[in-house]
Amino acid sequence: MSNTSRDTLQRFSFDNTDIRGEITHLQDSYREVLRRHQYPPRIAVAVGELMAATALLSASLKFAGRLTLQMRLPGNVTLLQAETNEKGQLRAIARYDESAGDSELRFDDGQLVITIEPEQGQRYQGIVSINGGNIAQALEEYFTQSEQLGSHFWLACDGQTAAALMLQKMPTPAGQVTDTDAWDRVSHLASTIRNDELLGLDAATVLHRLFHEEQTRIYPASELSFFCTCSKPRIANALHQMGYDELNSMIEENGKIDITCEFCQQSYVFDRPQVEELFPERNPH
Ligand SMILES: [Zn+2]
Repeated sequence: MSNTSRDTLQRFSFDNTDIRGEITHLQDSYREVLRRHQYPPRIAVAVGELMAATALLSASLKFAGRLTLQMRLPGNVTLLQAETNEKGQLRAIARYDESAGDSELRFDDGQLVITIEPEQGQRYQGIVSINGGNIAQALEEYFTQSEQLGSHFWLACDGQTAAALMLQKMPTPAGQVTDTDAWDRVSHLASTIRNDELLGLDAATVLHRLFHEEQTRIYPASELSFFCTCSKPRIANALHQMGYDELNSMIEENGKIDITCEFCQQSYVFDRPQVEELFPERNPH
């Protein structure tokens, strides 16, 4: 495990089985998100859990692109969203009614949406409905329904650190797996993990504690970090799509256009000459 980053993703597998796993710890990247938003406690915890889940899924990005995990919810917390890319960069937000705080963070109805957007190629989106439970259960349901993969997720967050553990049963042709009751046995071992252990112990210690009697193979850890993909050219592109007249009336009203990135709170200001520059066809030299 690296000493330089406290945000890591560790893959592992079990010999002679079709089971693989991942474990992640997020500290700096999670705190960067909290530093930019004053989330009420339960929302902060849910954002941490969703970020940790997204970090686990980042390992499945084998190409340049973005993976977004979204929970659309029925209460006054309407959206939890976390994103990652092939570099393990993470960002996250919650949308909620600030006057109501976290009083209604509800998972009894809604949708879990996973979107994968390669820089080159076809966008993929999978959706499952949420009918109670928690984020981990919604993810297990997603992998059962959409991917036909048996999965178990354990997510933990204490408002300072977020961590997650996942086991997944890969599709393997019959006959290639010699240890056929491994899934039940390993799942049971993993289910003995306590939240404080998952949050407080490093990956190697957790894996040893849970699986020391199993033939476990641990791969090199990768590092994760906070990063926002917003930029002035991207904001300019979005503004351009709103059209000249709309932008012009915004300038008339406020003298400038001030856009704040929802994820990182970075502010981007466009004055009248900069808006004119977005439409070179209107100002031929
Ligand atoms: Zn941003």
